[in-house]
Amino acid sequence: VFQLSLPLNFLGSVYRELRQSLLDMETLFSLQKVNVAIKEVPNAKPLQLTKGGEIKFENVTFGYHADRPILKNLSLTIPAGKKIAIVGPSGCGKSTILRLLFRFYDVQEGRILIDDQDIREVSLESLRKAIGVVPQDTPLFNDSIEHNIRYGDMSAPPEKVLAAAQRAKIHDIVSAFPEGYKTMVGERGMMISGGEKQRLAVSRLILKDPPLLFFDEATSALDTHTEQALMANINSILKEKARTSVFVAHRLRTIYDSDKIIVLKDGLVAQSGTHRELVDTGGVYSELWSAQETLFDEDGLEREVSIED
Ligand code: ADP
Ligand code: MG
Repeated sequence: VFQLSLPLNFLGSVYRELRQSLLDMETLFSLQKVNVAIKEVPNAKPLQLTKGGEIKFENVTFGYHADRPILKNLSLTIPAGKKIAIVGPSGCGKSTILRLLFRFYDVQEGRILIDDQDIREVSLESLRKAIGVVPQDTPLFNDSIEHNIRYGDMSAPPEKVLAAAQRAKIHDIVSAFPEGYKTMVGERGMMISGGEKQRLAVSRLILKDPPLLFFDEATSALDTHTEQALMANINSILKEKARTSVFVAHRLRTIYDSDKIIVLKDGLVAQSGTHRELVDTGGVYSELWSAQETLFDEDGLEREVSIED
């Protein structure tokens, strides 16, 4: 029995490890909806950020099924070094825009340019290295908190991991855990809250420090106070480094200070401008803003509400 169980155990652990790494990949892939069919053009050149990261959608039409377009002849420009927000009802294609930029899918018509280069023509590695996303659902690896943050930069020394966690407002929480940064998370690890997960994802992004940053409802699970403190830190990083950033958000409070706000509706840009301009012009955005503005109590705490209501 002993002799038999030894190799079986050994195989079992190899199998478990293999299965685990597949599971990690699967989690990442399914949550970020990766299409493995995307291919590079032969001799793809690396993306060159010659203008500092300007993003352009030119007449983009895309649907997960060709007969059901989500984005319809959509054109928009995200200037380099600016903070842009995309708002709109659930299901209107906000996350899809981010997935297209990461090239998890290719557009059916039109093109997406980063600093004048069609993203289908650059190497996938250079494209994905240039972009960092805090996705709507953060995939956590079945590993320590430290590893989960370090996934943003595998070679980062512990002090950089810690500094990233501090800026992402998660350091104090992690420090209070008995095992600190060695605490295991993921399916078999410690249960952590949605807000803690989101802050781990933000730490990961801060550590990766990419030129283009996307936040997809990245702070939706946080209370208003933590959200504001975290946003202040994120804003200071973006300013300091003049990064191009795109925020998808339901709570307009988190994005009203953006350089440009794009309101999506029915696969098209319904409105765009600064908060001031959009409020002054009236329309969808200003209606949403006044609806949400009345929904904070005296302590600044938000009552349950989202853009869909
Ligand atoms: P938003 O982020 O604005 O809420 P999404 O971009 O996630 O919306 O989705 C836009 C539309 O595309 C929705 O109707 C959604 O159901 C659909 N959709 C999203 N992902 C897929 C997918 N992988 N396959 C098919 N349809 C999808
Ligand atoms: Mg979404």
